[in-house]
Formats: sequence, structure tokens, C-alpha cells
Amino acid sequence: MFGTGLLKGLGVTLKHALDTFEDDRESVPDRYRGSLELGNNRRVIQQPIDQEGLLTIQYPEEKRLLPERFRYIPMLIWDSEKQEDRCTACGICAKVCPPQCIWIVRDSDENGKPMTRCSDFYIDAAVCMSCSFCVEFCPFDAIKMNHDYELAVYDRYPQLVYDMAELTVPLEYYAALWPTQYEEEQARRKEEEEQKRKQEEEKAAKAAARAAAKSAAAAEESAGAAPRRSAAELQALAKERAAQRQAQAADGGGSDDDAAAAKRARMEELKRRAQERARARKAESGE
Ligand code: SF4
Ligand code: SF4
Repeated sequence: MFGTGLLKGLGVTLKHALDTFEDDRESVPDRYRGSLELGNNRRVIQQPIDQEGLLTIQYPEEKRLLPERFRYIPMLIWDSEKQEDRCTACGICAKVCPPQCIWIVRDSDENGKPMTRCSDFYIDAAVCMSCSFCVEFCPFDAIKMNHDYELAVYDRYPQLVYDMAELTVPLEYYAALWPTQYEEEQARRKEEEEQKRKQEEEKAAKAAARAAAKSAAAAEESAGAAPRRSAAELQALAKERAAQRQAQAADGGGSDDDAAAAKRARMEELKRRAQERARARKAESGE
């Protein structure tokens, strides 16, 4: 029917007006209940998720409390517990960034050997599209999304190209902005550390058991081995063997020579027979 769409639109507008009126009445006597006072007449107003009214916020004095998962420009995490940057300059974030707005400068030692840390890290905030891919792919939880959206400047360059010093925030800042995610990450990290500790303990226990088994086997082997003889015993043994040889020689001195002569005679006999057989075969064949 002609005009149905118009009536529907007006109905939506009327609903928002009534919701706003209702929400406003509910927030009496103070619409700033639950808001954060920032001083200097500045506040962060929390609008519950079930509130559907379109309350006017007096920006910039008043700001809406942002949801935890709000994201704007990335920030780099300084691990306050370990007193070091979490970033290892692996470069994964720069590779996956769709508009390619991350530049990383890897640090190197005095010999020019690359190190696992950045000497600088740049993000062009004018190009960043807040997709959070860099955060998703970072294996070290070193880059997170900041909530700070008030970045207006007069000149794009160099003011919107943030360097490492401008991007780095302490871990506590991230924990305050992303409390749920931070808690989950900490629980996961603890679990991983615990697993790693257990694996190392198991590895050490296995190595100790292997070493103990090896030394026990060596001890067993040395216990079963013939005792070593002293020099005096060896001399006595050598003398005894020499005496035995002399006695053998005295008893049957030519026995070795006799055996050798017998063997020679037998060989000669065999040779003679073989020659005879060869001659006989030759005679038979008429050659
Ligand atoms: S922020 Fe993460 S992904 Fe990017 S270079 Fe640093 S450690 Fe690698
Ligand atoms: S949020 Fe997206 S566009 Fe911005 S730096 Fe990270 S990957 Fe690049």
C-alpha cells in the first residue's frame, strides 16, 4: 500500500524517542551513575548494553565507555614482569598486515648478528584499517589493539607514523583495557609454563635414570671382569711359560721336525699319484 514504508520509518523513530525517554527516566536522579569521573568536568559514561535510548553525550567532555573489544590502532607490549619488550622482531605481523603499514627494524649486536628484538617499529596510523590481523597472528602476545581513537593531527607525516616509543605501553595498560582477554591469556601462559616445567622435569628424570643404569652396568661389568695381574705376577707367568717351552723342547725336541717331514712325504706321494693318473689318462686318449 502506498505510504506503508513511510509509516514504518516513523514508527522506528517514535520507538527510539520513547526508549530514550524511558532510559532517561530510569537514570534519574543521576544520568552519570556508574560513569567514570576524569576530572576537569570530563567523564566516561557507561551505557549498559540493554539500554536502547539515544542519549546525547557531550563530547569531548563526555565520552562513552568503550566495549573491551573495541579496536583502533595497535600498541606494543612492554612486559613489566620481565622488564623487556615482548616483540621478537619475527616480522609475522608485517607480513600479514593487509595494507602493509608495519615496518620493523631488527636490532643487531656489535658484530652485526641479528637479534630477537626490534631497534624500531613503525605503524602508519593513516593506513592502518584496524583489522587486528597483526594481533591475531603474533605468536608472542606482543601486539594488541589500543582503544585510543583521538588521533587527529594537522599533518599526516610524520605525526601519524608512530614509532616504537609511541606505540609501546606497559602490560598493566593492556590489562586495564582488555581485562577478560588479559586474564584468559595469563591463564593460558601459566598452563603452558606448567606443562613446560613438567616436561623438563620428566626429561631430567629420564636422563638421570639413563645415567644411573649406565653406571650400574659399568660397575657390574667391572665386577665380573678378571682381576688385573700385578707386574710381579706377569713376570712369574712369563717365566713359567718359558720353562714349559724348554721342558717340551727337552722332552721331544724333534717332534715338530718329524711332523713336518711326514707332511712333506705325504704331499710328495700325492703329487706322484696325481702325475701317474695324468700319464694314464694321456695314454688312454692316445695323445
Ligand atoms: S609484534 Fe609479534 S608478530 Fe610482530 S614482529 Fe613483534 S613478535 Fe613478531
Ligand atoms: S590492525 Fe590490520 S591494518 Fe592495522 S597494523 Fe594491524 S594488520 Fe595492519
